[in-house]
Amino acid sequence: MAYKITLIPGDGIGPEVIQAAKKCIEATKVKIEWEEALAGADAKEKYGELLPEATLDSIRKNKVALKGPIITPVAGGFRSVNVALRQKLNLYACLRPAKSYPGVRSIHKDIDLIVVRENTEDLYAGIEFEVGKTETKDLISFVNKHTGRRILPDSAISLKPISKSASEAIVRFAFEFALKNNRKKVTAVHKANIIKFSDGLFLKVARQVSKEYEGKIAFEDRIVDNMTMQLVQKPRDYDVLVLPNLYGDIISDLCAGLVGGLGVAPGANIGDKIAVFEAVHGAAPKYKGENKVNPTAMILSGIMMLKYLKENSAAEKLQKALIEVLSEGKAVTYDLKPNRDDPTAVGTQEMAEAIIKKIKK
Ligand code: NAD
Repeated sequence: MAYKITLIPGDGIGPEVIQAAKKCIEATKVKIEWEEALAGADAKEKYGELLPEATLDSIRKNKVALKGPIITPVAGGFRSVNVALRQKLNLYACLRPAKSYPGVRSIHKDIDLIVVRENTEDLYAGIEFEVGKTETKDLISFVNKHTGRRILPDSAISLKPISKSASEAIVRFAFEFALKNNRKKVTAVHKANIIKFSDGLFLKVARQVSKEYEGKIAFEDRIVDNMTMQLVQKPRDYDVLVLPNLYGDIISDLCAGLVGGLGVAPGANIGDKIAVFEAVHGAAPKYKGENKVNPTAMILSGIMMLKYLKENSAAEKLQKALIEVLSEGKAVTYDLKPNRDDPTAVGTQEMAEAIIKKIKK
């Protein structure tokens, strides 16, 4: 029987990388019936909504989705569709592997890191108070009264909720992932020395949960600023990292940079019953419609999806073909060439075709 999977093309370069990944997945011969659903700009145009209920229903029904990136305006404008999707479907774990591949130029070699980012709370909860608003003034006087501190009256405020339950869920997810995938160590990343209550709670919970895995998976913690330096200098000292939402977002881009950039960084948003697979990169609007960007991150996200479906031999087949194309360095996009102006660089779809040729070989 065919799997039914929701396919969300997304904005900017989304439709191009989604098309490339879809073709590659289909070449493995796993039977999939794709149900296309809209989110982002196209959805707004067609349904007047950025994240239509029909799209959420399709994911709820099919339980698995492959998703392209969706644009979020900086500062003003609407709140992130991506964040809303993760919150509405309770996709509490964001899994972002950063792995070195042959043929992909990077500062370090042989990196194999896993970033596990909490996906539903922290400063991403979207609870914010705009400067000058009545409720903001009320909140400021409440805080000033109860803490004896003085928040300047012309301040905006963003809340950083971190709960015991969500921290426990994400840390447990990281340890279970480590256990099932033969990993050796989990590092909890925080700023609990300064942010004593919210990050402090995350660390306290991480320490408690780690005790259940004593003797099986090692545990340590790092302060986030120190972590960024350590990752740049000695990334091979780390294995699985577990982080609250915002640090997880920043550290996963850093880790993508360590292994060759956003073009090769895949990801998944996972809940108890539903999973949405998407690359770490965004919609890169300046490359929209140019058939230029690297489809690798989206294809690797597709490989994660095949593994999630327990289609391991299809996943291996696709991964082997992708690695062959990357190692040869011929039919690859501009960002994978030593010189970005290299005229031998191929387009997004042509790189996908080269991978498909290897699968069929
Ligand atoms: P971005 O990831 O879209 O692009 C940054 C740069 O990275 C690009 O200009 C390009 O040089 C490079 N890049 C990205 N993807 C690439 C690929 N596949 N191949 C080669 N190079 C690639 O980040 P941004 O410019 O900060 O964000 C653009 C939009 O995407 C924003 O609206 C942002 O909110 C959104 N975004 C969405 C998601 C998501 O849907 N999950 C994630 C991140 C950003």
